[in-house]
Amino acid sequence: MLSLQFLGAAGTVTGSRFLLTVDDAKVLIDCGLFQGGSELKERNWALFPVDPKEIQGVFVTHAHLDHTGYLPKLVELGFRGKIFATPSTLDLLGILLRDSAHLQEEEAAYHNRGKLCCPHAKPLYTLQEAEQALYQTHAVPYGKVLEFGKIKVEFISAGHILGSAFIRVTAPQNGKEVSFLFTGDMGRYHSPILNDPATVSEADYLLMESTYGDRIHEKKTGVEAILPAVQECLDLSGCLLIPAFTVGRTQEILYTLRQMLDQKLIPQIPVYVDSPMAVDVTHLYAEYHEEHDLDMEQLEKQGHSPFRFPGLQYVRTTQESKDLNHAKGPLIIISANGMCTGGRIMHHLVNRLPDPSTILLFVGYQGSGTRGRELLEGAKMITIFHQKIEVNARIKQVDNFSAHGDYPEILKWLSGFKKQPLRTFLVHGEPESARAMKGHIGEKFPGWTVEIAQDMQKVEL
Ligand SMILES: [Zn+2]
Repeated sequence: MLSLQFLGAAGTVTGSRFLLTVDDAKVLIDCGLFQGGSELKERNWALFPVDPKEIQGVFVTHAHLDHTGYLPKLVELGFRGKIFATPSTLDLLGILLRDSAHLQEEEAAYHNRGKLCCPHAKPLYTLQEAEQALYQTHAVPYGKVLEFGKIKVEFISAGHILGSAFIRVTAPQNGKEVSFLFTGDMGRYHSPILNDPATVSEADYLLMESTYGDRIHEKKTGVEAILPAVQECLDLSGCLLIPAFTVGRTQEILYTLRQMLDQKLIPQIPVYVDSPMAVDVTHLYAEYHEEHDLDMEQLEKQGHSPFRFPGLQYVRTTQESKDLNHAKGPLIIISANGMCTGGRIMHHLVNRLPDPSTILLFVGYQGSGTRGRELLEGAKMITIFHQKIEVNARIKQVDNFSAHGDYPEILKWLSGFKKQPLRTFLVHGEPESARAMKGHIGEKFPGWTVEIAQDMQKVEL
């Protein structure tokens, strides 16, 4: 018996978790948190659809919390199996899961002081449970085929963030081998720092992400994309505030700012990375040379550190972060989190949004129901920490820094298939993007069977 069930990231872009059942063995591919508005977050508290004690192993495509952030909860619910991922993913997980647990604990404490409308007085999970999850992890390098019970598993470079992988699972069925390819999140071609997504030439069943199934990213270089915003910041002597994801996006922005300085396109101005995690993550990005692309290699050969340049300061302590409230422009503050749903960016928003000399620059996807989406859609007043905040800042967005391929990039990657998959399931996309992606695949590859995964749908194969 072979079946696949979508336990999340179907009709939405978070909560990636796919259950693969091979005879009596169950494994999960990814184990993510639902993120975004309160309705989505509430799903993290729902009863887990399978008894975690029955799950033998979890295979993780990459470290982003929408793919991994539920692991400590799974452990709390009794999961005692192994968690497999690439070495760099595991290093990132050490940072991200501990931070996630810390945020869960903080949110519960805040609620218990009566300040939050969140109905949960207990954290979703604790630091101890995150530590337990980390204890259950095992590293599998790219390209090594791991035998796990009846299945074989391989991690293939996906070019999305450090350590990211497509996961290929091979399982027996009626004396034959059947292969599955889980894309996790699809990276981009020609993005700085990391290698391009590896070509995959065949799979019987393909689970394809579709975050940007309806979009074409701008064809600008990173420098072309953010130079106008930096220029505006210089003209206004204001603050260029960039809500950025700690993993990937922050490093690409630093890489780009350093390029702009090297090319003398901008003068040296203070740039603050206001995130203790970003410092650690940036070290990891620098460390894993084997995942670097050619441009990065060349830079390093010339003795340059891509993540260090004059004017750049990493901010670790809360006090240093608060002190930035008084810093006068022109300056750049890069702070997490990227969708403005929490983290240090919140106090910068409270402080800087009313000021017309602020430029708020979004460099990534803003999920529905998030404060980031609200601001992007032109809200003139938003609520943060129960305060009404007037929005006088200029709101801008560039999508060059997306770590997800757009639909032409996905189609390019799909062109690597020498044989069409028996069935392709579109996951990890809001309904409109998934529908659009289905249309694009249908046009380019007539004859492919493409289905939009439905939440909790179970497919017998
Ligand atoms: Zn991701």
